[in-house]
Amino acid sequence: MSFNPVRIIEKKRDGGALSREEIEFIAGAASGAHRDMSEAQLAAWLMAVVWRGMTIDETVALTDAMVRSGEQVDLSGLPKPWVDKHSTGGVGDKTTLVVLPLMAACGLTCVKMSGRGLGKTGGTIDKLESIPGFRTGLDLEELKAQALRIGLALTGQTPRLTPADGALYALRDVTGTVRSIPLIASSVLSKKIAGGAEVISIDLKCGSGAFMESLEDARALAATMREVAQRLGKRLTLEITDMDQPLGVTVGNLLEVQEAILALRGEASPRFAMLCVDLVASALQAGGVAASLDDARLQVQDAWQSGRGAAKLAEWFVAQGATVSPEEVLAMPGAPCKREVSAESDGYVARLDAGMIGEAVVELGGGRKQKGDTINPAVGVELMVEVGDQVRAGQPWVKVHAASEADLQVAAQALRQAIHVVPQPVPSVPVILERLDSAV
Ligand code: URA
Repeated sequence: MSFNPVRIIEKKRDGGALSREEIEFIAGAASGAHRDMSEAQLAAWLMAVVWRGMTIDETVALTDAMVRSGEQVDLSGLPKPWVDKHSTGGVGDKTTLVVLPLMAACGLTCVKMSGRGLGKTGGTIDKLESIPGFRTGLDLEELKAQALRIGLALTGQTPRLTPADGALYALRDVTGTVRSIPLIASSVLSKKIAGGAEVISIDLKCGSGAFMESLEDARALAATMREVAQRLGKRLTLEITDMDQPLGVTVGNLLEVQEAILALRGEASPRFAMLCVDLVASALQAGGVAASLDDARLQVQDAWQSGRGAAKLAEWFVAQGATVSPEEVLAMPGAPCKREVSAESDGYVARLDAGMIGEAVVELGGGRKQKGDTINPAVGVELMVEVGDQVRAGQPWVKVHAASEADLQVAAQALRQAIHVVPQPVPSVPVILERLDSAV
């Protein structure tokens, strides 16, 4: 069905709700199925959505139209339950590298599409590409075959799945229209549904290093995602998690892969371990593999402590073409210039600004300012404290890994602004702020 795109934009501009047919028309234009709405008109519509929002009916219709804009992965024949995990993006967020092997080690089947990082939030594909030989461009047939063999498979975005989201997301990136609850919910869920998942595990980041900076906005996105998933017949588990401080102890692509390898060998920082256990446990419970969350946590801890998670990671590396073992990744030399930055006063760490730390890593060359920028996998930072810790003046709190002495100086200067030390004790911040439906 054809529509007048100008009337559609005006309707949304004036706060109206679009019909399912109008939304299908927009998704059709985005995926290239027709040419009756230009890119400029799509961008104008996106901005109208940012200001006026969408009803739940519209958001469900957009999600469904984006799912149907491309192929849908049929996972029949693979052991159930089929689970996909998604983080809304953060600084130091290497959970996928730990959670996917643990999920597979606990008997779930995980087929996942991941993105590249843009700006301060890193991307799983960039992290995996710091492993020599690791293939991040599997086709749908390879994904399915690998998931059947080892229980997990991961690829970068492919135009065969949700092409309408691919085009709209690229436009949103360059038109200031990323931050919109209905657009984020439909973008994330359409990819998960098209990927064949029946259980969708969402790690919704909240704080200065995330898209959703306030708990109020994170709750609103969680409520929209829950409703959309329910209406499209999917089980959703969702945790709202802290992204005011970076996750774990490293930020930077190779450093984060090394941290994930060590974590699966039993050296995870407690906050990071807690998050990984809970994400996998929620999925096990939602997938019907565990009777309760406590039972699920025991299963995950067993997979972790027995080394089955670490073994699955090594198997995953081989399956996706890595030419080095996890052991050899740990031995990779990293960046040539390293220096510690110290606290300037005695006291307690009140804030480690994830946004500023993420931006410092981008400046070091570890992230992109523009799509297509090349990144240096070896640079980044190692954090030696977390919020709530006591520090003394002169005590190192972060180690910078840089490509040159000049970069090191700039990063050290920027990082001095990212830590706030106060004289009075500060409580530590829980990593899981809320679970869908219930405060933790
Ligand atoms: N991640 C996505 O896949 N889509 C968004 O809109 C935001 C984060």
